[in-house]
Amino acid sequence: MTYRGRFAPSPTGPLHAGSLVSALASFLDARARGGSWLVRIEDVDAPRTVPDAADEILATLAHFGMHPDEAPVWQSERGAAYAAAFERLQAAGFVYPCGCTRREIADSLVHVHARHATLAYPGTCRNGLHGKPARAWRLRVPDGDAARLTFVDRCQGPQTQDLATEVGDFALKRADGLWAYQLAVVVDDAAADITHVVRGADLLDSTARQIYLQQCLGVPTPAYLHVPVVNNDIGEKLSKQTGAAPLNREAPLDALVEAALHLGIDVSAASLDAFYSAATAAWAARFGR
Ligand code: GLU
Repeated sequence: MTYRGRFAPSPTGPLHAGSLVSALASFLDARARGGSWLVRIEDVDAPRTVPDAADEILATLAHFGMHPDEAPVWQSERGAAYAAAFERLQAAGFVYPCGCTRREIADSLVHVHARHATLAYPGTCRNGLHGKPARAWRLRVPDGDAARLTFVDRCQGPQTQDLATEVGDFALKRADGLWAYQLAVVVDDAAADITHVVRGADLLDSTARQIYLQQCLGVPTPAYLHVPVVNNDIGEKLSKQTGAAPLNREAPLDALVEAALHLGIDVSAASLDAFYSAATAAWAARFGR
C-alpha cells in the first residue's frame, strides 16, 4: 500500500500549540512510513473562515519544516465533488430532507450518552416533512444492531459508537446551504486516496459517522489514529475560541519539541533536520513504520 496521510486545518485562525500537535503527528506518521503527507485547507464552512488564515497556516508549516508533497487542496473549490457525492447518496435513497428548525431540534433532542452528553437527532422528518419546507438534508443511519459501528484506533484502541442512539441521522447539507464537514472530509479523503488519518482526539466522535458515509459511498476506510488534544489551564481544548496564542515563528524548534513531548516523544535537537530525524524514529518505535 502506498501510504498517503494528511493534515486538514480549518482556517479559523493561525496555527497554535494544539493544531501544531496534529500537524506534527500526521507528518511524523507519514515520514515513519515513507509515505506522502498532504495538506487540505478545510474552508468548507465559509462563515467561520478567517481571511488570510490559510496562507498564514501554510507559511508557518513551511517555516517549521513541514512541506506538503503535493499542492494543498482547498475545500472551497470542491463544491462540485460534494454535490456529485450527495446526488449519488440521494439516488441510492440514503438521504432525506429535514424541515426542523434549530429550536425544534433542540426541543426534541434525546440525551443518550451520559459520558459525552451526546445528543441524537430523533429522526423527526424521516417519514416526511409534514408540510414544513426542506431546510437541511440528512443521511439516514441504520437501526438496531446494524447501527453499532466499531473500529480500532491506532492510538486509542477499539471504539464503538451506536449511530442510531448516539448520533442519529446527521446532516450532509446544512440549513444554511453549506456542505457539512462530515461529507466534505469523506469525499476529500477518498479523492486524495488517503490511507491514514492522524488527527486530534476531538474528532474521534466523528469517525464512526465518516466510516458509515464511506460505506454508503463505496469508498475505502483509511486507518485512524487520534492523538490527545492539548488543553488550556482550565481544561478546555486549545483553540482560537479558548484564547490559544499563535505559534511564535521565531522559535520553531522550541514549539516542535513541546508538541513532540505532548505526543510522548522526548527529543532534544539542535536543528530542525535533527529534530525530525529523532522524532520520526521515536514515532516509528511507538506506532510502527
Ligand atoms: N478541519 C478539522 C479541524 O481542524 C480537521 C478535520 C480532520 O482532520 O479530519 O479540526
